[in-house]
Order: sequence, then structure tokens, then C-alpha cells
Amino acid sequence: MRLRPHHSMCLQFFVGKGYSAPFNRKMSETLSLPSNTKVTVTFGLDDICGHCPNHPDGKCTSEAHVSEIDSAVASILSWTEGSETTLGEFIARAEQDITRKGLLRKTCGNCSFMEICAPLAEGKKEPRI
Ligand code: SF4
Repeated sequence: MRLRPHHSMCLQFFVGKGYSAPFNRKMSETLSLPSNTKVTVTFGLDDICGHCPNHPDGKCTSEAHVSEIDSAVASILSWTEGSETTLGEFIARAEQDITRKGLLRKTCGNCSFMEICAPLAEGKKEPRI
């Protein structure tokens, strides 16, 4: 499947509260796929966006904002257009190298879902020794 970088963050914290019922179904369905499902990284609309109501003209209405998050996530994880991975790795690497390192606010900034994701991310952060 094709996934944009920032969806590696959204998938970690999805609790059923997305943009619409079809979007929520697609997120749940994606999370239930085998972890070895092939993922190709893309920086445009992806397989999850296809079920979102926010692209009436074939372009995300929040493209400027989400592109920034895509770039921030991709830069930390060294993903470029067409990078290949598996669904399990796609999520696990973002969790390990972004969430556990306390970088959620750095990558996702003022995303409207921050109040859901931030408390969940706190619980995953690696303790400072
Ligand atoms: S808001 Fe934009 S980036 Fe996010 S799922 Fe919808 S179309 Fe895709």
C-alpha cells in the first residue's frame, strides 16, 4: 500500500476519532493488516487519504500543513518518495525514533489531533536517565 510519512504517526495513536466514518474504517482496517504488508512511501495523497473527506479537488485541503509534517517525519526516518518498507516497520520506526525520543511536538506541531496523541505519546517516551 502507499502511505505518506506522517501517517506513521497517526497510525500509532488512532483511537477511532478521525475525519469521517469511512476514514475511521480505513485506519482500523490498515491497523489490522499483517505487519509484513508492503508499504511504499509517498508524499502525495495515499491509500488512507482516499477515504478522507478533505480532498474535494484531488488535493488535501490541509496540504501545506500535512506536507510539513511529512517532511519532518521523513527527514528523521530517512524516507524519500518511493522508499519501501513494511507496515510493521513503517509504524515501529516512527514510534522508536520519534515518539519514544519525545519528538512528537517537533514533527507534528500544532496538528488538530495533538490533544489525543500527546498524552498517549507521553506514555511511550523513554525515561531520561
Ligand atoms: S487530511 Fe489530508 S493528509 Fe490527512 S488523510 Fe485527509 S487528505 Fe490525507
